[in-house]
Amino acid sequence: MPYCPQCHTEYQSDAKECSDCLIPLVEGKPLFCPNCEEFVTKDDTFCDNCGILLPKIPAEEAPECENHPDVDAIGGCVVCGKPVCAECATEQNGRIFCENDDHLNMHQGFVVAYTTSTDYEADMIKANLEGAGIHATIFNQHDHVYFTNMGMLALVNVMVPRAQLEEAQEIIMALFEDEGLMDEDDDAEDDA
Ligand SMILES: [Zn+2]
Ligand SMILES: [Zn+2]
Ligand SMILES: [Zn+2]
Ligand SMILES: [Zn+2]
Repeated sequence: MPYCPQCHTEYQSDAKECSDCLIPLVEGKPLFCPNCEEFVTKDDTFCDNCGILLPKIPAEEAPECENHPDVDAIGGCVVCGKPVCAECATEQNGRIFCENDDHLNMHQGFVVAYTTSTDYEADMIKANLEGAGIHATIFNQHDHVYFTNMGMLALVNVMVPRAQLEEAQEIIMALFEDEGLMDEDDDAEDDA
């Protein structure tokens, strides 16, 4: 049965679009993380929520620890996406972090305001948020060799302090309404 990749509702087989989200349905069944039971997509390597390496990844495609190229990663830092082995991983509240303590602190104080696959869009959003006095930070999976080598869709997260999330989301919504970025296609003109 097809399902909506955003709200995860399953539809009858003749449906093409989610009636709530107005986006195309994808074939198959919604996938869930065996660890935290959050929804994951078939393109995910690590669970976005808890960071574990998803068991659907075949052993030969599984990433190695970025610090120890001979050791298989057990998961990816939920902040920066860095693949880490059991020795390098820090686990807190069931989530995986890399050895950078800032990321653990970050996760407690900061939340993801927006996720995109393009650096350009993330930079644009960060600039606008900062213009409004919100301290925005970008975490980019493009920084990690694994995602680039595998030709995978790397995600760029724009994170903001938890207390400013609502304000940030309003600014981002307004940006998309003004500039029609949602409809932007690959050959958008360059007004240089
Ligand atoms: Zn939906
Ligand atoms: Zn999980
Ligand atoms: Zn990290
Ligand atoms: Zn390691």
